[in-house]
Amino acid sequence: MNAPIRPGPDLSVIRDDVRAISAYHVPDATGLIKLDAMENPYGLPEPLTRELGQRLSQVALNRYPPADPAAFKAKLARAVGLPAGMTLMLGNGSDELIHLVIQACARPGAKVVSPWPSFVMYELAAKFDGCRFVGVPLGADFALDRDALLAAVEAQRPAVVFIAYPNNPTGNLFDRAAIEAVLAAAPGLVVIDEAYLPFARDTWLRQLGRWPNLLVLRTLSKLGMAGLRLGYLCGDGAWIGEFEKVRPPYNVNALTLAAVDFLLDHLDVFEQQAQAIRAERARLMAALRATPGVTAFDSDANFILFRVADAAATFAALRARGILIKNVAPMHASLGGCLRVTVGTPAENDAFVGALRATLQVSR
Ligand SMILES: *Cc1c(COP(=O)(O)O)cnc(C)c1O
Repeated sequence: MNAPIRPGPDLSVIRDDVRAISAYHVPDATGLIKLDAMENPYGLPEPLTRELGQRLSQVALNRYPPADPAAFKAKLARAVGLPAGMTLMLGNGSDELIHLVIQACARPGAKVVSPWPSFVMYELAAKFDGCRFVGVPLGADFALDRDALLAAVEAQRPAVVFIAYPNNPTGNLFDRAAIEAVLAAAPGLVVIDEAYLPFARDTWLRQLGRWPNLLVLRTLSKLGMAGLRLGYLCGDGAWIGEFEKVRPPYNVNALTLAAVDFLLDHLDVFEQQAQAIRAERARLMAALRATPGVTAFDSDANFILFRVADAAATFAALRARGILIKNVAPMHASLGGCLRVTVGTPAENDAFVGALRATLQVSR
């Protein structure tokens, strides 16, 4: 090796706020039962995987993907029931679409508001993209605090309000009338994030025509295609046209487009899996509620938030027993003692409940 011409990297060009934080941590799940990330635990059945492989083998990997896959978007719009006159755009997961909405709105001093605790990406994206983020604490039992949120909208005049419906990490659906009050009061955009639609089966999509400032954000991740990274944002074409300007031209790759194009013809498979997950959610909820030392909160998502005496100790003990869930207690003061478990297969859920009961027994 030659001697360096200049001393080591001078990180002072990196933003102070970026240097101050650590990277979004994705824990290693090797060898563990993975119940931490709201993934669908079921894979695709055999004939479908083979046919999918066939389709993917025909994709021209030497070519850029289409910059505007109009036929694909029309097919997706039909499959999801996009109301007539509305438009959708594609993102590399809904994570990217959260960034694009904020980037397009990030005038100096612009603010982003969300009930809090909620999806961490709203806060991270707002900060990275140059906006101020204001989280409005949830009320009792993690319900939307309508008055507090309306007061924040009034005081902050946010460019964008994000509302996760159902909310992550709490799992509940907020009151629709309270959200309508926010839609009426908000001076800017209101993005309703329906990542958990397959498990809640309640949507704002049909309200798009009624509220010109409403956008509905969706993803295929929780339905069972997390690895493909496809999100979509629905709303009035005037808004979408502006967001399209900040979208990187080839943000959704050719393999994803081909895979989803194929899988849209087999949505019934995913719907059946979602139905199985909903049934398992009820069984897991009953088991948690029958476990001494556990308080489990109602869920309309594919995960359950529950409280124990010591979240960190319980998380570590479960991990030692081969089960990975998520300790959300550090996220917010209101989540003290709280853990979040994704609904898995019946066997995974049984293993989790067994390990949890053994863990809590030992610590008594
Ligand atoms: C998981 C999740 C997403 C995820 O999105 P991707 O499409 O996988 O990027 C978005 N919003 C909420 C509230 C989520 O929990």
